[in-house]
Amino acid sequence: MKKDISLSDLISESNIVHDYDPNAMSVEKAKTWIANFLKPSDQQEIIHIKDALHRIVAESITASINVPNHDNSAMDGYAININILNGDGPFSLKVTGKLLAGNQLEGNANEAVRIMTGASIPFGLNAVIPQEYVELNEGVITFKIKPHINQNIRRLGEDIKSGQVVFQSGRKIEPCDLGLLASLGIDSIKVYRKIKVAFFSTGDEIVSLGNPLSAGQVFDSNRYSLIGLLKRLDVEAIDLGVTPDNKKIIEDTLKKASDMADVVITTGGVSVGEADYMKEILKKIGEILFWKISMKPGRPLAYGKIGHCHYFGLPGNPVSTMVTFYQFVREAILTLSGQTHIPKTPLIRAQLLSPIKKVPGRTEFQRGIYEQGHEGTFKVSPLKDQGSGILRSMSEANCFIVLHEDTAHLEKDMWVDIQLFDSLF
Ligand code: AMP
Ligand code: MG
Repeated sequence: MKKDISLSDLISESNIVHDYDPNAMSVEKAKTWIANFLKPSDQQEIIHIKDALHRIVAESITASINVPNHDNSAMDGYAININILNGDGPFSLKVTGKLLAGNQLEGNANEAVRIMTGASIPFGLNAVIPQEYVELNEGVITFKIKPHINQNIRRLGEDIKSGQVVFQSGRKIEPCDLGLLASLGIDSIKVYRKIKVAFFSTGDEIVSLGNPLSAGQVFDSNRYSLIGLLKRLDVEAIDLGVTPDNKKIIEDTLKKASDMADVVITTGGVSVGEADYMKEILKKIGEILFWKISMKPGRPLAYGKIGHCHYFGLPGNPVSTMVTFYQFVREAILTLSGQTHIPKTPLIRAQLLSPIKKVPGRTEFQRGIYEQGHEGTFKVSPLKDQGSGILRSMSEANCFIVLHEDTAHLEKDMWVDIQLFDSLF
């Protein structure tokens, strides 16, 4: 694959790339082509860490303190100096002071000091004996075994060292990261601006919620699936409603969408039906690739640019919309959001509970229900209704059964790859 080719080169001279065939694009190839044209946003903002969950770090973050910033006790017990212990145990030491977390030492640190978890280790002491291992009698502790040096002591900087880079640019902030930043005293960080994604549905037969449904019409479900999918990606979603199959209205809506967003998604109108105008309109106002992907569901897909804006034209069938979103749009949005090291959605091996009919030559994303058997292995049942218009199959299923391009018919008990819906976000 030629890496430095531009979108317009590819559109005008697709034959210069030997492995590029818009009429038979594998899922992986289509993904790689799209990835070629994606550049992360360069706009950044500074936000409080309370608002930073799932945001993408835009500038590496360095620790300016040690965590912990003092040697401290990992147990409730007695801090001692092991260097004053002679011979074999048992040993007896006088308790000469007491130390609670966050307080100053009361007394001297010359023999044993009563110490609580988190309290600083007094100067000159080098081990903590848990209280369960000592006997206390009239201010004297007795214990049998000599501890190792630094036993039960949390050392200065053992969690994070001052000067250490804790997060590189491109890192997605997870819940634990918020705590980690707070442990460093960092209250705000620089992140990439949220990506703006505008979307609308197309089709003369598509009716928005709240309007009556006449014969031959369907309620717009795609827009609501998209709202859910985009919420999980934490983007700024801009809902532009439904347009009829009317060239002027679609063109105007696309222009408006591309003016306000970083990504525009439409559903419907990318196949080759009479009223599928997307191709014609997009050729006029942008640079667009139309692909037939070797996958089921979700064969037609359009990717391109309208001005600075990335465009994804997804097929209108409700299951196809979701599958193409998961396979192509999700990863693109994560890249544009500035995230690096985007983890691949894990594939898990599962044993088929019923046979599957399939012809080689395309990737199929069948909907299935998995469960974990007693012996720990995963079992999966394909749903009976696999039509791309049957959205119920997505709601009933809890995973995709991913049947790779070269896979043919599969018998019961054979092993397949599944992708858990819970691992897709
Ligand atoms: P299209 O991709 O426009 O040819 O549409 C394919 C099928 O998906 C048709 O049966 C449409 O009615 C249906 N469809 C398209 N858009 C939507 C939508 N937003 N909600 C529900 N069904 C849709
Ligand atoms: Mg349509």
